[in-house]
This record gives sequence, structure tokens and C-alpha cells, in this order.
Amino acid sequence: MKAFLVCAIIPFLMPVRPSVANGSTRSALSGQIGDNKEVRAALAWLTSNVNWASEQQARLTEIPAPSFQESERGAAVKALLVAAGLNVEVDGTGNVIGELPGASDKEIVVLAAHLDTVFPVGTDVKVRRDGERLLAPGISDNGTGLAGLVAIARAIHEAQIAPRRTVLFVADVGEEGEGNLRGIRAIVDAYRSGLKAVIVLDGASTDHVTTKALASRRLEAVITGPGGHSWSDFGMPNPINALVRAAVRFINTKVPASPRTTFNLGQIEGGTSVNSIPFEAHLKVDVRSESEGELTRLENALRECIAAGVRDEMESARDRSKGKLEWKLQLLGSRPGGELAADSPLLAALRAADAIVGNESRVERSSTDANVPLSLGIDAISIGAGGTGGGAHSLQEWYDPAGRDLGLKRALLTLLGVAGVGPERSR
Ligand SMILES: [Zn+2]
Repeated sequence: MKAFLVCAIIPFLMPVRPSVANGSTRSALSGQIGDNKEVRAALAWLTSNVNWASEQQARLTEIPAPSFQESERGAAVKALLVAAGLNVEVDGTGNVIGELPGASDKEIVVLAAHLDTVFPVGTDVKVRRDGERLLAPGISDNGTGLAGLVAIARAIHEAQIAPRRTVLFVADVGEEGEGNLRGIRAIVDAYRSGLKAVIVLDGASTDHVTTKALASRRLEAVITGPGGHSWSDFGMPNPINALVRAAVRFINTKVPASPRTTFNLGQIEGGTSVNSIPFEAHLKVDVRSESEGELTRLENALRECIAAGVRDEMESARDRSKGKLEWKLQLLGSRPGGELAADSPLLAALRAADAIVGNESRVERSSTDANVPLSLGIDAISIGAGGTGGGAHSLQEWYDPAGRDLGLKRALLTLLGVAGVGPERSR
């Protein structure tokens, strides 16, 4: 019954399968979308409000939002979603959720952009302008996605579009680093039974669509020892020495080019002063692969290298009387892999949107909020929200809004393609 209803009431804008999404079928679909007055009004609103989007982007970027400290930026996004006529709430995890009820409240489509940045409190996030360019840490990742989220919500509101499926506009927490996708995990948990598609807006550009979730693990090695004085205790086992010995072994680990597999020694901490033998040393490592098997192999290799580094240090220590080194390897985070089916309605909707705006997308594999739904078999993609950007995760990050409207329209049309829209109102 439900399947029949879906077929009966969502013919309009329902994406076609890619196998037939070329040529006449695709242009017929494009024609349908172009013929809808409300959709045209939403597209026109986006065209004339790109500067508004840039203003919101700069304003939101200037509110610091390291992972686990997103609430102030979340409140600003909440106000913008309220202004877009949505029922907005903040869930227990800190996600901001703006609901646009559809004809069916049993079927849900999520448009999400992460709130958090990798920049710690105290980072100067003031936006500087260089001609059209905006420069600030986090301006593109994910100032662009957040600006896109609120602009699309606003465009739909201004055009009074009534979607078939309920649309949730979500600004989620904890996408970066040790946030470990906790925001999107909570969203998928809460709405899983009705969740038909998740569209993630992450960063700038319109050249790609991420349909494959890159699996990754974040690990932390901790080595501890008794510690002591650099002169009088010389020869005692030193946790930093052990860590360095282990790290040198690990970076010589061979990884295959295919399936593509990478590792990064991202952070080292330890010690208290130059003239103390440290009592603790930490190493954080990120490993990624197209294959879960390679991830497990690398995690095991890291464990063996830490054990060997500690053993080498203990064997070469002159004085073992004051204690020995201990070590452990802990999992800080794990991002599951997954892949969108090539014949999914969501990918067809994206392709149809591309055809309308005259864009082409290359399929990519990446690690984004889309990992979580994809790993559970829920249709999901991650796309940029238009314009161009660079220097993500660096202090030199920049964004150029040229072409932003194309990205916003592509995202809007993809969203409406999977959500469906009601019949035109007669005016
Ligand atoms: Zn991002």
C-alpha cells in the first residue's frame, strides 16, 4: 500500500534510474522541474541572494565551533532556520533540526551540514576579504555547507514549496576528528525507520559527488614510565624514546596503492620539561582505506610497532630498577565504510539536477557525515555547496563565492528530487 502511494503521489520530480536517465528521459524530467512555478521561484530566490548567503557564511564562521563546543554557532543557525519558517529544535547531542513537514511525515529526507571545525578555541576566525574572496579558518569547511543549508531552507520557504516527504534541515555536531560523526549518528538513530535519503553539504565546489564512504580509524598510543631527572636518572627507560622508536618502525610499513590505503601520524604529545625524563608520551594516528581488511592490518601493525618500540627502549635502558614502561593502544574513533548503489534514486536525483544546471559530477570516495547512513544501507551523498575553496583544515583557508548559485541550485534540485513536491498552487 505504501509503495503504491509513493508511486502514485510522487511521480513529479521522482528521479529516474540512471540507466534511463540519459537523453529524452532526462530532458523530460528537466522540463518537469523547470515547469514548476514554485521551484522556479526558489531558484530565482537563490540567484538574487548569493550575497546574503556570503554574509551568513562570514557571520557563522566568526563564531568559534570546535568539535564538542558548537552550541553558540548552533544557536545562530537555529535563528536562521526559524526565520525560514521551520519548526526548530536542538536535540540532546546538540544537533539543530529544522523540520519542514511533508504530505508524508512517515518518510524523511535529511539535508545536513556540520557545525564544527578542527580549530581549537583561541584560533583567530575573523573573516578577511580579498576582493571577492573570504579568508578565515573554517570559512569553506564548513561555512559553505552551513550557508547552503540556511539558503536552501529560506528559498523553499520564500517559494512556499510543499514537499511530499518531510524534510529535516540539520546542522549537526561532531563531524570532525574526535567528534567521530556523533551528531549524524544521533540523527540517523532517531529517524532511521523513516529515513529515505541523506544529503550532506560539506565544503565548496560542484565537481564531485561522494557516494562511497571511506572507512577510517583513529588510534592513540600511550606509553608511560616512571619519569625522572635528565642527568641523575639518565639511562632510565624514556617513553618518548620508545615512542620515537615505535614511530620510525611504523612509518616504514608498506601500504598498497590499491585498495588505496593511507596513514598519518597527526599528533605527538608528552613530557613536561626539557630536563625531565618524561613519564608519558602520546601518539595519534589516522588510518584510512578503501578496504576494512587493510585497516585492521594497519591497526595490528601499529600495535606491533608500539610493542617493539617499548621493547627496544627497555632493552637499551641502563637502569631498569626504577620501573618499566607500560603501553596501550586505544581506538579514538572509527568511521564505517559503505557505498551508494549505482541505481539509487538519490544518485539519479543528483544526476537530474546536474543536467538542469549544466553541471557534471565525478564520483568520489571520502570520509564525511554520509559514512553513517551509507554504512547502514540508507541512501546518502555528500556534495559541495558551490563556489570554490581551498586550504581546508589550515589557517590559510579561503572561499570564493563565484559560481555559488549553481551549487545551491544543484543541491536544492537534488533535495526536491528525492523529497518530491506537491502540485502547483493556483494563484
Ligand atoms: Zn567538512
